[in-house]
Amino acid sequence: MSIVYLNGEYLPISEAKVSVEDRGFLFADAIYESTPVYRGRAFLLDRHLRRLSNGLAALRIDYGLEGLAAVHERLIEENVPVDTPLAFVYVQVTRGVAPRGHAFPSQPVTPTVYAFAGMVDKPGQARWDEGFEAITVPDRRWARVDVKTTALTANVMAQQAAVEAGATDVVMVRDGMVTEGSHNNIFAVIDGSVVTAPETNYILHGITREYVIELAEELGYAVHQRPISVEDLRAADEVFYTGTTTEVRPTVRIDNQPIGDGKPGAVARALQALYLRRAQGNVSA
Ligand code: PMP
Repeated sequence: MSIVYLNGEYLPISEAKVSVEDRGFLFADAIYESTPVYRGRAFLLDRHLRRLSNGLAALRIDYGLEGLAAVHERLIEENVPVDTPLAFVYVQVTRGVAPRGHAFPSQPVTPTVYAFAGMVDKPGQARWDEGFEAITVPDRRWARVDVKTTALTANVMAQQAAVEAGATDVVMVRDGMVTEGSHNNIFAVIDGSVVTAPETNYILHGITREYVIELAEELGYAVHQRPISVEDLRAADEVFYTGTTTEVRPTVRIDNQPIGDGKPGAVARALQALYLRRAQGNVSA
């Protein structure tokens, strides 16, 4: 059984309990983070912890992250065999436990901190060689999705729509423009350039997105962070997604229409190969 971390303790998951008055449970008054694990080590952990710190500051939750790197190490050691192709460590920090009321508790409360390690059921190589499908859905989320709160109802509904359509990913669309996936960011290759939506309040600033932009530049591609319309996306030569549990995933059909030649594109394949090489070499940058 998996060993999880809760408020300073390591314990079997069946013994990990939180209060029904926890503001994470009542209001999604909480920030989370999820960091990939390759070869027994968290990849790009510093960047993930920086985003967690920014999110906590945005919600004005006062919690110091100094001990969290050690929590990651311990959870990996307890739960993740070193040859696991892809795992992740999830951390959630809620404002804490207090009688229900919308405004922050009038008395100081101690944040609730929960973390666990999970495995990603990554599809086999044959599936990657075929490519993946996506569907478009309206982006019905609030206007601060750059803050990584656990209020993910709209993301859950969007991803369920993909499952019911037999697709892997969603393209969320706001006012005719592409924002992101339910748990990943979207890139396109248009006129030879790598294009992705800018870092506004309408997308989560993905760590994999940031890292893949650096890799694309390293490979010599021009990268433009600019708004992408749904029409531009449908007409792109390539579309791919990035994310902690997504890596660099090529999309070959959107709403049942082929993208480019209907096969995973050269740019996505090159970026996935380099990303995996770095992640498995575990260069923590
Ligand atoms: N967008 C959303 C909505 C997400 O939940 C995630 C996953 N955290 C991402 C993008 C990708 O972010 P990252 O590369 O940091 O996993």
